[in-house]
Amino acid sequence: MTNICPIKNVADLVSEARRVYRETFDGDDANVAVCAPGRVNLIGEHTDYNEGFVLPMALPMVTVIVGSKISGQKCCVVTLTEAADEPRVVDFDLPNELTPLLRGQPNWANYVKGVIQHYRACPIPGFRAVIASSVPLGGGLSSSASLEVAVYAFLQQLCPGKNFVCLSRITSTEVKIPFIFFHIAFALLITCKASLEATAVPLADPGLVILITNSNVRHSLTGSEYPTRRKQCEEAAAVLSKKSLREATLQDLEAAKDRLDGVTYRRARHVIEEIERTAQAAEALKRGDYKEFGRLMVESHNSLRDNYEVSCPELDELVAAALEVDGVFGSRMTGGGFGGCTVTLLQAHATERAVKHIQEKYHGSPTFFITTPSEGAHALSL
Ligand code: ADP
Repeated sequence: MTNICPIKNVADLVSEARRVYRETFDGDDANVAVCAPGRVNLIGEHTDYNEGFVLPMALPMVTVIVGSKISGQKCCVVTLTEAADEPRVVDFDLPNELTPLLRGQPNWANYVKGVIQHYRACPIPGFRAVIASSVPLGGGLSSSASLEVAVYAFLQQLCPGKNFVCLSRITSTEVKIPFIFFHIAFALLITCKASLEATAVPLADPGLVILITNSNVRHSLTGSEYPTRRKQCEEAAAVLSKKSLREATLQDLEAAKDRLDGVTYRRARHVIEEIERTAQAAEALKRGDYKEFGRLMVESHNSLRDNYEVSCPELDELVAAALEVDGVFGSRMTGGGFGGCTVTLLQAHATERAVKHIQEKYHGSPTFFITTPSEGAHALSL
């Protein structure tokens, strides 16, 4: 038996959420529904806060929200996700100038409140909503961003505004990938500058599969190491007299080597090379050169392990096991690191073999998702 996770389809998530909506809200029916995907980053890790490239694709795992407007200023939101902290039902008042929505408990509701607090398109009415999701939480597949984007899409449906506000600006945390620009059968090369330019890169070959393997570990370093890495990147950029590491070349870095300590040098080296690798990977994908794409994925992993030092034994073990399988083009950790998932590009016919081999070799207990590039955030008809 292998731990391949069946991916719940959108229609099933919607009917589950509608059923709970009826049960929770006195038999009323929801009349709005939206869907936003999780996403996996194929390559381009820790480049986003250096104004570099990332190359993600939308996943078939999604966050669905169903709900309806109500009169008054109250909001009631339910999540069906058991991994979210309790209570899984929250009530709050809409914010106004005197009383903004503040962080509180449970933590999951802060993602909902954050989007509401920053929503600018038009005044939001009171509402009731139920959230159902198939994106695994905390695995580096952006369940939180998918929730935020779903909330944003939901608010748009409740009160369609004329001015579409860029998703990156309405979210409270960092640059969020413009989830609405994702398409079935395409990855997206995104420039993480304020303009967030995005180019769709075809990834439609039916002979290919993107296998996601969840290590099911998360080391506690994640929280503390991330700000340290960011600081090191800023320091390196300052020594190189650049606005960001995006502006720097390897030659610049080598010329400044004496003025950087060894660790900061290696951090900067990862970022500068990873930005270049991501651009090259997008080109390789356009040519259908999966071998080259896979090679770049492995280089990316090795650099994250050795230069950026954000991998962990579990992720290294999963990648090494995947690379032993015939038909695998490449494999790497994806997301922030210290646990979470790996992403593997392979020939579709090798999938079963790869899953079996990885499961045998891995000392932990992995779960697998067999995925293809999926649709961006959108409204659903009920
Ligand atoms: P990820 O890589 O999955 O985004 P994070 O740790 O950044 O990992 O975010 C996970 C958090 O997002 C969860 O702990 C929870 O608070 C929130 N979250 C994501 N999806 C849901 C959901 N469907 N229902 C409630 N909370 C969610």
